[in-house]
Amino acid sequence: MIDFHCHIDLYSDPAAVLAEAEAKGVYVLAVTTTPKAWAGNQKLVRNLRRVRVGLGLHPELVAERHTEIPLWEHFLPEARYVGEIGLDGSPQHRGSFDIQKRILKRMLRSCADAGGRIMSFHSRRAATPVLDLIEEFPAAGTPVLHWFSGTERELARAVELGCWFSVGPSMLSSAKGRHLAQAMPAERVLTETDAPFTTVDGRPLMPWDVSLTYGALAELWRTTESAVPVQLNANLRSLLGSAPAV
Ligand code: MN
Repeated sequence: MIDFHCHIDLYSDPAAVLAEAEAKGVYVLAVTTTPKAWAGNQKLVRNLRRVRVGLGLHPELVAERHTEIPLWEHFLPEARYVGEIGLDGSPQHRGSFDIQKRILKRMLRSCADAGGRIMSFHSRRAATPVLDLIEEFPAAGTPVLHWFSGTERELARAVELGCWFSVGPSMLSSAKGRHLAQAMPAERVLTETDAPFTTVDGRPLMPWDVSLTYGALAELWRTTESAVPVQLNANLRSLLGSAPAV
């Protein structure tokens, strides 16, 4: 099982969640929302084999946290994964859109200078400007668009640009989400939860709940449910094989 976008540090007991995820054999990318969280997260995962931390600066926090960008750059040499980064164009974050773009540009330039990174992107109501920047910095690494919710045309452009995608139970519970997922190349799809703020039956999703996507993915990919995690594991190996070691 693979949870390629989970906010482990936002659960009330992150260590307990990680211990259970590790016991269940889940590969987890623990994304962070601010570079100040990097060290604490690294400490949390230090004895775990299948958990990695993403160095993030969430677009929704950029308005108040953009002064932390030197700290983000300070940790970048030791981070193989970057995220959560991106742009948010929804009304409550429109006011910071220019600074979001400036900061994202600076992060992508840094990733390119560092030799490329695997990056987990947020692109809510901002798919086109996110893709514009991905196109401008091809050396920044491999983008993984998390919970993509743009248009079909934007999705086609993302595929053309070499983007990967992470999809979760929440996204696949809507017809629009399934329709978009259908148009993603199966060999560039990973699963995610975006937990703990995503829920199922009124409780927070857990990293192992990525298995809730298998039924929908089996249908989209015209395969059996048991073939889905096999494909996903192969995808993860291929992603890691294509990315530079750090
Ligand atoms: Mn997230």
